[in-house]
Amino acid sequence: MVVAADMRRFVERFAELIEQNADTLTELDAAIGDADHGINMRRGVRAVLERLGDEPTPGAVLKTVATTLISKVGGASGPLYGTAFLRASAAAGSKESLDDADLAALFSAALEGLRQRGGAQAEDKTMIDAFAPAVGAFETALAQGHPRKDALQAARSAAYAGSDATIDLVARKGRASYLGERSRGHRDPGSFSTALLFDAAASTLSGDGP
Ligand code: ADP
Ligand code: MG
Repeated sequence: MVVAADMRRFVERFAELIEQNADTLTELDAAIGDADHGINMRRGVRAVLERLGDEPTPGAVLKTVATTLISKVGGASGPLYGTAFLRASAAAGSKESLDDADLAALFSAALEGLRQRGGAQAEDKTMIDAFAPAVGAFETALAQGHPRKDALQAARSAAYAGSDATIDLVARKGRASYLGERSRGHRDPGSFSTALLFDAAASTLSGDGP
């Protein structure tokens, strides 16, 4: 089961991975955007860590993340991740602990929020291209009877693979779409921060302690 403390560890691990990869995220955005994705995400996760406290439920933790990202992160990614976390928070509701099915519902609600907010489809070269395969892999692994730990690893791998696959795509959403064909050959920065998110989930939400 995932309780509030596990969800806080997930957020802290995500923040750590963003700190470690902020320069990479910004370099990726320099190639096909405006060189601020790492800066935006770092500002966001730092503000989240300042606000994170003694939330009683996983849903409350996710809500703190959502409202902070929406208010602190400029750019497209703030409202997008903010919406994803807000939908995840709503899916978690006021439950004290989340089981596998709850977690699957939470991931899928987050993905739906991203889709609605940004209007991007698969292969538009956005964070959706990491997020959607990760959610799909998680659900498939659970349906096949794999334990949550393995399902989270499958999600993590699918997110990184999805991000890798953005390299060959032409951007159809966001700033990179202004470049048209010239966006091909570069990894989408948001897909990489999404892979970091599922990486953090894999190491903190398996339910077998720190
Ligand atoms: P901005 O583009 O405003 O500078 P960021 O650099 O922080 O914002 O974030 C850029 C990332 O946001 C892109 O790499 C892409 O993954 C994601 N993104 C942009 N527009 C959309 C959209 N409509 N739907 C989903 N993701 C998007
Ligand atoms: Mg940018």
